[in-house]
Amino acid sequence: MLDNRAGARKPSRRANPIFSIRARLIALALLAITPLVFDRIHGLEIARGHRVDRARAEVVDLARRGADAQREVISSVRALLQIVGRVHAKMPTDPAACNQFLTVLTGNVPWLRAMAVADVDGKIKCSTDSEVIGLNVADRPHFQNALHARNFALSDYLVNRIHRWPSLMATYPALGDNGAIDGVVLAVINLKWIGELIDDAAQRSGASILLLDGAGTLVAASADQENLIGKPFAAQALAHDMLTRDDGAVTAEGFDGVRRIFAFVRVPWTEARLAVGLDEKAVQSGIDRETTIAYLQLALFGLFVLLVAWFGGEQLIVKPIRALVRTAQRIGHGDFRVRPLQQAWIAEFEPLAVALDDMAQKLAEREEELRIANEHLEELASLDGLTGLANRRGFDRQLTQDWKRAAESKQPIGLMMIDIDHFKLYNDRYGHVPGDTCLRSVGETLSLVTLENAVLVARYGGEEFALLLPGLDVARMTALAEEARKSVEDLLIPHAEAPCGYVTISIGVESMVPQQGQSAADLVEAADRALYTAKRYGRNRVVAPGPTLVSSTPQPEREPVPPLVA
Ligand code: GH3
Ligand code: MG
Ligand code: MG
Repeated sequence: MLDNRAGARKPSRRANPIFSIRARLIALALLAITPLVFDRIHGLEIARGHRVDRARAEVVDLARRGADAQREVISSVRALLQIVGRVHAKMPTDPAACNQFLTVLTGNVPWLRAMAVADVDGKIKCSTDSEVIGLNVADRPHFQNALHARNFALSDYLVNRIHRWPSLMATYPALGDNGAIDGVVLAVINLKWIGELIDDAAQRSGASILLLDGAGTLVAASADQENLIGKPFAAQALAHDMLTRDDGAVTAEGFDGVRRIFAFVRVPWTEARLAVGLDEKAVQSGIDRETTIAYLQLALFGLFVLLVAWFGGEQLIVKPIRALVRTAQRIGHGDFRVRPLQQAWIAEFEPLAVALDDMAQKLAEREEELRIANEHLEELASLDGLTGLANRRGFDRQLTQDWKRAAESKQPIGLMMIDIDHFKLYNDRYGHVPGDTCLRSVGETLSLVTLENAVLVARYGGEEFALLLPGLDVARMTALAEEARKSVEDLLIPHAEAPCGYVTISIGVESMVPQQGQSAADLVEAADRALYTAKRYGRNRVVAPGPTLVSSTPQPEREPVPPLVA
């Protein structure tokens, strides 16, 4: 297994992480829709401008139509006055007949409210309105104008007090028999069309009509501003602007304080200005509503794009990346069974999945190789090089396992500690190499004798051996040990320095059922004590626990062995 600590280590992170992929996608999406948004906003602003232009054109048209209508009315009145002026000499002199004549003449002309004829002194001598007969109009400027300029003249606007419609007084010189001026024909023009225009325009929300006379006094107005009729506005910027130009269009505060788009035209033959105004807010309210809806649509569209970018990024990029990261983490934690290629990947991620799959396979192979090598090393590390038996390390490991097992199964575990007698002397006498050979022979013999019973025959150290025999009690252990001792003795390896002349071994045996508070070391210690006892009692013998000397030699003395000759 690879070192898992590497997997446990947290990946180093950037202190200031740059934008995530999703954030970038969203930024891209925003960038992509920004021109659209600006284009739409630009379009809306143009539409707003067009709407205002249309409204301006509308009020200009209305104002012109009003002025044209007035021109026509005045022109027709002028023509009529001209006729009356010329036939004046032939008109009946009798007031009643004269009145009748004028009434008949004006009967078909709806905008003529009254017609009258005054003599050169200004005294009205004949009229469609009998009440004004005898009235002197000599002081009126339009009378004087007609008389002295010998031409058509108009009064200023006069506002009817009852229905508040404006009227004009038109005058024309009247000729006598000799062709000289001997009077003035007068007509009161009822500018009812102004009322119609006002009514028509009033249909529109916020539309208003203003008629300013040359002095800046409001002489007619639509219903919303009727209360201002008769008031002077010459000092106001709007009035000043209107009176200084013949026509124009301006967006300004009206006399009532409401901002309007005004168009104004000078009324022909007069200094008056007819102005039509449309409430700027009313004009813009439609486009404002459209603009609001368009902005709302844009916001929804933007939101939709953002959501698509967010979830699209999640599904198409972030999710596969997370899956690949998880795969890499599993590999990092040593799980090489993962096979990223078992699932389908988006084309761009497939090379990475292939690389991870390849890496997992290679690591799995490498791990197997390492495992085998490790096992081999482990085995080597537990073996004694000289005898091929287990070494001390192998012995300790096996003892720990068997002790544990015996403790669990409450079975005895037996141990023999074996030491070659006078082996130092053997070495001294025959040399180290024969000493090694002797060690190997003893090891082999011990293995053979205990083949069926011992789970482990180990070289405990130097010329000492240890045998582990689980399940054997002291009696069987002692018998087996005696057999082993005898087998070594029967090898008849010459040892001139030993009392019996051959190589012998001493054995201490112990067998115990592991109890609470005991450890494997207790077993080793007890067997070692028994071995020590065997040595003390003269060697070449087996000693079991306690004072009992199970196998007690002196063995029969053998023939002295001649020294080995090198
Ligand atoms: P005793 O009967 O009391 O056990 O005496 P002994 O001489 O056997 O005991 P001692 O511990 O004094 O000597 C052990 C000797 O074993 C010392 C050493 O020269 C020898 N020896 C230890 N390991 C080896 C080895 O690997 N090869 C050889 N040839 N000799 C070894
Ligand atoms: Mg020894
Ligand atoms: Mg010894």
